[in-house]
Amino acid sequence: MKKRFYPSPNHEPRSEGIKYIIVHGTWMESDKEALERLSCPKAKVSCHYYIDKQGKLIQLVEEDQVAWHAGVSAWRNDVSLNKNSIGIEISVLPHEKFLECQYETLELLLKDLLNRYSLSLDAVLAHSDIAPRRKDDPGRGFDWGRLEKKNLAFKNNGSIDPLNPKSLRAFGYVGEDEIILEAAKLRWR
Ligand SMILES: [Zn+2]
Repeated sequence: MKKRFYPSPNHEPRSEGIKYIIVHGTWMESDKEALERLSCPKAKVSCHYYIDKQGKLIQLVEEDQVAWHAGVSAWRNDVSLNKNSIGIEISVLPHEKFLECQYETLELLLKDLLNRYSLSLDAVLAHSDIAPRRKDDPGRGFDWGRLEKKNLAFKNNGSIDPLNPKSLRAFGYVGEDEIILEAAKLRWR
């Protein structure tokens, strides 16, 4: 894929295989501000890929390195998902719409990653899925249905009841009932 590089020093060697792809929204005003933060040693945050406001793809961390995007997180039997995930940040504010050009780039990237790492569709998760309540990105404005239709995210054909904590836990959510119900609402509404 066509991409630019904006190397971030915020990474460490990867010792586990890649199991998840985590989608984020930056919640930041400008690309400049976001890219500076994602590569500032003091901030200790980063991501592998960044999709800017023009839909351009920028790589900050090599895939064989762990980037610091997930923070305190859990899914199924995994905790601290930085170690076994790829992080994608999309430049957007909480109440802004994700742009057509951003979806187009994201879709190409997801297709490539899902293929290369032989991942199933339920590997594609929101930051809010793995850090419920603590994080709410990419948020309500993110169109999961669009990814589902293109076979780039898990489609719930009734196997998951988003109003039933037990069902959500079987899918992968970790946490108290109220908290995971809240997170599921961001994705299935
Ligand atoms: Zn995030």
